[in-house]
Amino acid sequence: MMLSPSFGLESLRMKIAINGCGIAGPTLAWWLQRYGHEPVLFDESPALRTGGYVIDFWGTGYDIADKMGLLPGLKEDAYFIQHVRTVTAGGRTTSSLNTRAFHDMTNGRYMSIARSDLARQIYQACDGIETQFGTSVTDIEDQADKVAVRLSDGGQEAYDLVVGADGLHSHIRALAFGPQEQFENHIGFYVAAFILPGYYPRDELTYVSHTKPGRQISRVALRDDQSLFLFVFSKSFVTQQPVGEAAEKALLREIYCDMGWEAGAILSRIDEVSDVYFDRVSQIKMPVWTKGHVALVGDAAACVSLLAGEGTGLAMTEAYVLAGELHEAGNDHMAAFQAYQERLQPYLARKQDAALKFAGLFAPKNWFWLVVRDALMNLTSIPLLGKQLLAGSFKSDLDLPMYAETQ
Ligand SMILES: Cc1cc2nc3c(=O)[nH]c(=O)nc-3n(C[C@H](O)[C@H](O)[C@H](O)COP(=O)(O)OP(=O)(O)OC[C@H]3O[C@@H](n4cnc5c(N)ncnc54)[C@H](O)[C@@H]3O)c2cc1C
Repeated sequence: MMLSPSFGLESLRMKIAINGCGIAGPTLAWWLQRYGHEPVLFDESPALRTGGYVIDFWGTGYDIADKMGLLPGLKEDAYFIQHVRTVTAGGRTTSSLNTRAFHDMTNGRYMSIARSDLARQIYQACDGIETQFGTSVTDIEDQADKVAVRLSDGGQEAYDLVVGADGLHSHIRALAFGPQEQFENHIGFYVAAFILPGYYPRDELTYVSHTKPGRQISRVALRDDQSLFLFVFSKSFVTQQPVGEAAEKALLREIYCDMGWEAGAILSRIDEVSDVYFDRVSQIKMPVWTKGHVALVGDAAACVSLLAGEGTGLAMTEAYVLAGELHEAGNDHMAAFQAYQERLQPYLARKQDAALKFAGLFAPKNWFWLVVRDALMNLTSIPLLGKQLLAGSFKSDLDLPMYAETQ
């Protein structure tokens, strides 16, 4: 019997639950929809997450955003930071890095943007894709040809596949692969970030930071009179991981009380903020990213940590490749899962290793390494030398696969 073209297409159409609507989740949904599948996004948050921190965006993620037609909108929201400056407790500049080298190394395909703005722009492109905010996948049962899914609102449904795009502390990973401790490498730092309105001084398009051994505090001036503050500190300051925002704020005040520079002024306003970002700095290393009808993408699968300065781009890369391999493999999801992992896992492992080399730059463990770091930063402003010093950070040995278009 001849199959009609529409029947053929229907038989390839898969209904795919994606838990997590951050960066990887909506990127995956966008590409799956383009290939004729039916993705459904879930996020435990009642709406797209706001606040957070500013990320550097470049590399293969930037190329994928280009393919998705997102660049014009992203450029409107972007910041083209010109200097990275370190200062003493009294505010005197100790090193300064001109970011021209970043733009040269990436052929101008580099921007800084609030993570929440990047997430919003990707999500807004997901026109017509069903999304259930305030609802998450709480349980999964992998059956012969489907996954039975239980939702936090009590609902139950069957999907062809389930994808965990739910970040560093992925619930889908825990359900399908086991506890996070098996896969988490805590790098030895904690990170916190928050945004305040009307904070002065401001240094436009400049990333200013003050470091003492094991502790760093930075600020970046944002639009609309907002400023972002980022704290990175060694786990040696943390005897017990704080639980809840009040405890996190108290810990930040304690760790930074004798920091000098603007730490006192910044932290005196922390109670104005209701969404402080606070987490361990960790990487996720897993031997496999897929199991049965379940796959992981983004930080859930292979978090590289903030040290890589590329986690969002890599999350988008994983989403793009997973969708592309599913498309190429028809409805043989096992073949697609294998190809997804083979293409990307060694690459992500190299990115993770490279990121670890930057750990000391954020919060050097003693004054000697602090002086060495500042000296290196100054050297990067010397045009040719700067390029050589930064070459490793922008290295990418992945050729983004091209997948056939549909329809
Ligand atoms: C301080 C800091 C600085 C960084 N700097 C950079 C940088 O300069 N450049 C860069 O590219 N990357 C940077 N990163 C990394 C980057 O933010 C992440 O790698 C990226 O956001 C990962 O995307 P994701 O979609 O996998 O996860 P996320 O962006 O974390 O999204 C996960 C989503 O899942 C949802 N979720 C969580 N749990 C559940 C659940 N149980 N059920 C349903 N939904 C759930 C969350 O609400 C969220 O929407 C930085 C990270 C930090 C912390």
